[in-house]
Amino acid sequence: MKNISQPKIAAFAGGVGGARMANGLAQLLPPEQLSIIVNTGDDFEYWGLSISPDLDTVMYTLAGIANPQTGWGLLDEGHRCLENMRSLGQPGWFGLGDRDLATHLTRTQWLREGKNLTQVTRSLGEALGVNHAILPMSNDPCRTIVLTPAGEMDFQTYFVREQWQPQLTGLRWEGLSEAHITPEVRQALIAADLIFFCPSNPFVSIDPILNLSGVLDLIKAKPVVAISPIIGGKAIKGPAAKMFDELLHTEASAHSVAAYYQHRGLLKGFVIDHQDQDLESKLTTLGLDVLVTNTLLPDPITQKQVARVILDFVSHLV
Ligand code: GDP
Ligand code: CA
Repeated sequence: MKNISQPKIAAFAGGVGGARMANGLAQLLPPEQLSIIVNTGDDFEYWGLSISPDLDTVMYTLAGIANPQTGWGLLDEGHRCLENMRSLGQPGWFGLGDRDLATHLTRTQWLREGKNLTQVTRSLGEALGVNHAILPMSNDPCRTIVLTPAGEMDFQTYFVREQWQPQLTGLRWEGLSEAHITPEVRQALIAADLIFFCPSNPFVSIDPILNLSGVLDLIKAKPVVAISPIIGGKAIKGPAAKMFDELLHTEASAHSVAAYYQHRGLLKGFVIDHQDQDLESKLTTLGLDVLVTNTLLPDPITQKQVARVILDFVSHLV
C-alpha cells in the first residue's frame, strides 16, 4: 500500500450516471485531485450545431444548473426556438432548449474558429463556474453507431428519436480507431493514482473511452474501481439493462457489470447497492474488493455522502 494522503483520481463518465457520481467527487476533492474524462461517442450535429450531450450533462451538473428531474438539460428551460424550428419544417425530435442553445451556438462558433473540443469545454466550464477539469476523451470525432435488424443508426437517433426501443445486434464506432486521446487525458491518466468508472453505461459510455488507443495501457497498472449503474437488475434510466440482454445475452445485474469489466481484468474494486447485497460473495470470487452502500445519487447532498463513503473505501486500494 502506498498510503497516498491525497490520491489523484481520473473518473470516466458518460452522461447522467457519470455526472451524478462526478458531482459527488467534485464536492470533496480539489481540482488538482480530480479529472473527469467524458465520453464523446454521443456527439452529433443538429440544426448545424455541434452537440456534446455527455460533456454538457457533466458540465451542467457540476455547475449546479442541470434539470434535477431529467438529469440532463438545464433548469428553467424553455422550448420556444424548438417550436419555431418545427414550424419551419426542421427536425424536432431532439428537444434542444432555449438556454441550452447558447452552449451549442458558442461551442459551434469556437470550434469553427479553430479551438479544439478540450479548449472549448474548458472555456464553457469556466464561464459556468466549474472548477474541475472536464476532459473530452478525444478532440477527434468518435461516433457510436448502433446496429439493429433494420440497419444502422447513429447513437442519438437510437437513444432519443427511437427512445432506445430498437433491438440491438451490435455497436461500432466511426473514427475511433484513428482517434487520439488528448494530451490532457494522457496527462490525467499518467498522474492518476486511481481510476474510477462512474455508474455509466458500460457499452456506450465507458467502452468508447476504453477503446481509444493507449487508454488500456495507461490504466493497466492502476487500481480501477467501478460503481454499478445496474441496481436490483435494472438501470435507473436508459438502455443499459436492455443492452446486457441484447448484446451479451445475459441477465442485467451488478454482477454482469463487474464480469463485463473483469473479463478484461480491469477492476480492483466494485461498488454495489444495498439492494444487491446478496451478490457480494459472488463478486469476491471475481477477485474484487466489494463495497456495499447506497448508490442512488438523486441530488447533490446524496452524491456527496456516497462519494465520501466510496473515497473511504478506495483509500486502502491506492
Ligand atoms: P447517459 O449518457 O445519460 O446514458 O449517462 P451514463 O452512461 O453516464 O449513465 C447511464 C447509466 O447511469 C444508466 O445505466 C443508469 O442506470 C445509471 N444511473 C443513473 N443514475 C444513477 C444513480 O443515481 N445511481 C447509479 N448507481 N446509477 C445511476
Ligand atoms: Ca450519453
